[in-house]
Amino acid sequence: MQWAGDRDRLFPKLDDAQIARIAQRGERRSVRRKEVLWEVGAPRMDFYVILSGTIEIVQPMPGREESITVQGPREFTGDVDLIFGHPAVVEARAGEEGEVLALRREALLALVQTDPGLSELFLRTFLQRRAFLIAHGKGDAVLVGSRHSPDTLRIREFLSRNGRPYTYLDVESDAGVQQLLERFGVRPEDLPALIVRGRLLLRKPTNLEVAEQFGFTNAIDQDKVQDLVVVGAGPAGLTAAVYAASEGLDVLVLESHAPGGQAGSSSRIENYLGFPEGISGQLLAARAFTQANKFGAKFAIARSGGAIRCRERPYSIELEGGGAVKARAVVIASGVKYRSSDIPGVERFEGAGVYHAATHLEEQLCAGEEVAVVGAATPQGRRWSSSRAPCARCTCWCAAPASPRRCPVTSSAASRNCPTSPSGSVPGSSRSRAAVPTWSASGGGTTRPARRRRGTSTTSSS
Ligand SMILES: Cc1cc2nc3c(=O)[nH]c(=O)nc-3n(C[C@H](O)[C@H](O)[C@H](O)COP(=O)(O)OP(=O)(O)OC[C@H]3O[C@@H](n4cnc5c(N)ncnc54)[C@H](O)[C@@H]3O)c2cc1C
Repeated sequence: MQWAGDRDRLFPKLDDAQIARIAQRGERRSVRRKEVLWEVGAPRMDFYVILSGTIEIVQPMPGREESITVQGPREFTGDVDLIFGHPAVVEARAGEEGEVLALRREALLALVQTDPGLSELFLRTFLQRRAFLIAHGKGDAVLVGSRHSPDTLRIREFLSRNGRPYTYLDVESDAGVQQLLERFGVRPEDLPALIVRGRLLLRKPTNLEVAEQFGFTNAIDQDKVQDLVVVGAGPAGLTAAVYAASEGLDVLVLESHAPGGQAGSSSRIENYLGFPEGISGQLLAARAFTQANKFGAKFAIARSGGAIRCRERPYSIELEGGGAVKARAVVIASGVKYRSSDIPGVERFEGAGVYHAATHLEEQLCAGEEVAVVGAATPQGRRWSSSRAPCARCTCWCAAPASPRRCPVTSSAASRNCPTSPSGSVPGSSRSRAAVPTWSASGGGTTRPARRRRGTSTTSSS
């Protein structure tokens, strides 16, 4: 594995004082040569500090394995899955005989809640390791599909937004895909297909089926009465989870799609308090999700709250797809839905040439294509109207700007072919964008969710 200067940042060495603090919560033990400390997909793994010897981190691939790194004395193992309680993405085994300091996950959580110095070091390193795995496509899943398929986009977006590293193979352009499909007996009509841990094959899986493979739904315990159930893990739901869990309450968060909500799809947020330099929505979501997990909040992803029985105590929150959870209090933080364009028949192309976002994922899908961006004055849209636009030719529309400074589209119109709609509305739409709450009250003491949609639209000619 080529580290290009990243190794020191991703595998920092602990000093004597730090090791002594960790030792108070762990146990010293020896490891045998080649002993497996955890396997890929293991439902739980411990945290290790290497005192002597080495630990090799390995990524199993279909039919082979790849060594990611060999860790040495004073280094520690783990990534965010240790905090989230999700199954391991990689495997760890001892290289030589040696000695380690081992902590169970619960002991590690207790440590990060009480030792700010170690908490900062561990969480920062875990997040950076996960970002590295994602950036290099080093995960325990291989997705094979077509970039022209809405289902492929849906699964890619679901994995990306949930911070799960995976390798994507495009059936039309990547070499070696046919042999892989033949080996797993995948027919064209089975695509997109997800190969998990080199063994399990999911054909055209739903988001819930994908989530179940990675332990995203494990937090549901229908018998337990939670102190608080939060519906929705956008910025508002994550905030509620952090505050409630840090006060010692049992918190369960239900999230239909991915932590971060709308903010998770923003390429850069400049106006959130405490981030003067701005922050990407994905990083904000990852940090907030990690913070809530650190305090013990539990998350069930791809599980939607369907209805609340308000007259019962404890409250009963029905889950879409079956089942219910109980809570003494409920916070509904399900956000808003946006109207999309009312161009007749546009739904047929959604996810296959028409996208209601313009994030890095859509950038990959539209790279080198001729693209039209509707709503180009939004933070996402601005990049497409700049000289850094990722497409071959980009036409941008936005509603008439309140002031020239607020709409860079008009100022760069000459170079990027960006007309501002004279009527102040987007082409093909007679309505302006409007937000509607995703939960609405209905009769009989029950509250129900409504369908939601998203904002800025990208249309590629492919
Ligand atoms: C592309 C983009 C860029 C943006 N940029 C900025 C910016 O720069 N600055 C700024 O201030 N704001 C920005 N916003 C707006 C900002 O993201 C929202 O104001 C903020 O996300 C609202 O937070 P929320 O938690 O209330 O709702 P949401 O972010 O909408 O989150 C609601 C969550 O609830 C989940 N949910 C819905 N129904 C259910 C259910 N029944 N069960 C379980 N889960 C459910 C959804 O999946 C979602 O994750 C941007 C929005 C977008 C789309």
